[in-house]
Amino acid sequence: MTDKPRTSGDEPSRFDIIVIGGGVVGTAIARVLSRYRWKTALLEKQAELSFGTSKANSGIVHAGFHSAPGTLKAELCVKGCAMYPGVTSELDVEYKQNGVLMIAMSEDEIQKLHDFRRQGEINGVPGMRLVVGDELRALEPNLSDRVVAGLLAPSGGVVSPFELTLAQGENAAANGVSVFLETEVLSMSVNDRSITEVHTSKGTFSAAIVINAAGLYADKVANMAGDYSFVIRPRKGEEYLLDKRLSGIVRSTIFPLPTKVSKGILVIPTVHGNLMLGPTAEETDNREDLSTSFEGFQQIFAMCTTMVNGLQPSDLIATFAGLRPASDRDDFVIEPSEQARNLLNVGGIESPGLTAAPAIAEMVLEMVKEMAHEFGLGIEENEGYDGTRRSVRRFRCMTDEQRAAAIAEDPLFSRVVCRCEQVTEAEIVDAIRRGARTLDGVKLRTRAGMGRCQGGFCTSRVLKILSRELGVPVTSLTKRGGASRVLLYTIKDLLVSDSGPAGPV
Ligand SMILES: Cc1cc2nc3c(=O)[nH]c(=O)nc-3n(C[C@H](O)[C@H](O)[C@H](O)COP(=O)(O)OP(=O)(O)OC[C@H]3O[C@@H](n4cnc5c(N)ncnc54)[C@H](O)[C@@H]3O)c2cc1C
Repeated sequence: MTDKPRTSGDEPSRFDIIVIGGGVVGTAIARVLSRYRWKTALLEKQAELSFGTSKANSGIVHAGFHSAPGTLKAELCVKGCAMYPGVTSELDVEYKQNGVLMIAMSEDEIQKLHDFRRQGEINGVPGMRLVVGDELRALEPNLSDRVVAGLLAPSGGVVSPFELTLAQGENAAANGVSVFLETEVLSMSVNDRSITEVHTSKGTFSAAIVINAAGLYADKVANMAGDYSFVIRPRKGEEYLLDKRLSGIVRSTIFPLPTKVSKGILVIPTVHGNLMLGPTAEETDNREDLSTSFEGFQQIFAMCTTMVNGLQPSDLIATFAGLRPASDRDDFVIEPSEQARNLLNVGGIESPGLTAAPAIAEMVLEMVKEMAHEFGLGIEENEGYDGTRRSVRRFRCMTDEQRAAAIAEDPLFSRVVCRCEQVTEAEIVDAIRRGARTLDGVKLRTRAGMGRCQGGFCTSRVLKILSRELGVPVTSLTKRGGASRVLLYTIKDLLVSDSGPAGPV
């Protein structure tokens, strides 16, 4: 899936449009741009798409009653939510419209539910209603006794954010977008208020229009073009993933009333059947700090156990943190830059950015069409465009008959590599052929390593398959690119050397 840029010293690699950032927003934009005959490049600094905030979030498709009317967050959240069934079906990405339930634990809080219902109605959220008493208990039997009412928004859902991001990227590439990985934008040349060149770690690019979807670094990328109109203020969120044993304990995603800075700590039934608790919300200056903490764990369990019965810390299988790329404007920043005429900023995409991504992409497409003429671009449809894509075939989702047929077609389906998630070698090989280069790349595409044992059983097997398929030494493989090498040496290295390990290969 990766293209090769020209190296520095050559003429710049020329495109009509450059999209900087391969998260859920940048890939959604690249995909809608590929409906037109523009030569588009997607530049991503990490080893694979989706390795930024888009891989570490709650995966909720919000209904849209949280944001204040008149904001881009409110408008694009409701629009994006309505687009999810269509987009995920086109891209063959799992999506469950399980609804969201905001709960009240006192009479005062019930009044607030009414306020959110009114706000949601103004925003255009369909089908919301207050549920109480027997209906509430029948809907969610495991809510704690303290819960007295809930505001149900049936349009909300859950999705796998990284599967969606990778699927969008794959589909954009299939429709002609050139994807450049490990390509960090470092600086820009600007002349007469226009970006003339984009200098990256892999050479120089030029384009008529540059779209900045760089997430946590969107302000820094804008700064490169002389634009200081917004500042990213990261807000960290810790998430706690529980074993599938608790699958079904809640049906809807359970929200408390929101705090000033976030939607609160939630109980989330993930699309893959785990339960997830989180996220916390902590402002930070550190754009790379993805650590989790004992305080976060305590805060999350204290909150979630007041809402839902039966949650045990012993069911915890993984923790992670993500950083919301919030901005000082308290809303999404989606606008042409005033400092560089051919730059479109798509920054400050904090929550509900995952939900809004499909609608953000359509909005950006309209802006590009408005700018196209001024920058010498036509607007011709890509007649070969195909917005559909099929996912890796999941052994765990097949019936016995389907499994037998799959094994007859490809014997690698008979080799289960990840026992917890029932992932076969055929799926891992398919993921690698689609572009996985790292352990996390395989994990995000197949779920190998995401089960109860968290890769204890399958990691070495996945590494061997990666090494074989990519034709590289196993010791060169990384968890997520960069310096995250998994093995320094192998047992074989140890055995052949009298003086200890042979050292890094
Ligand atoms: C804990 C948490 C929970 C959340 N839960 C939800 C939720 O349930 N529902 C919801 O709707 N939203 C949620 N969000 C928000 C959502 O995750 C984000 O809005 C969304 O992922 C932002 O996507 P993005 O593409 O803008 O950013 P990213 O995914 O971060 O993508 C930006 C990309 O740009 C790349 N990049 C940066 N600088 C450069 C450069 N100089 N050169 C090249 N590439 C560069 C990065 O590597 C990155 O891959 C949550 C966020 C967090 C942190």
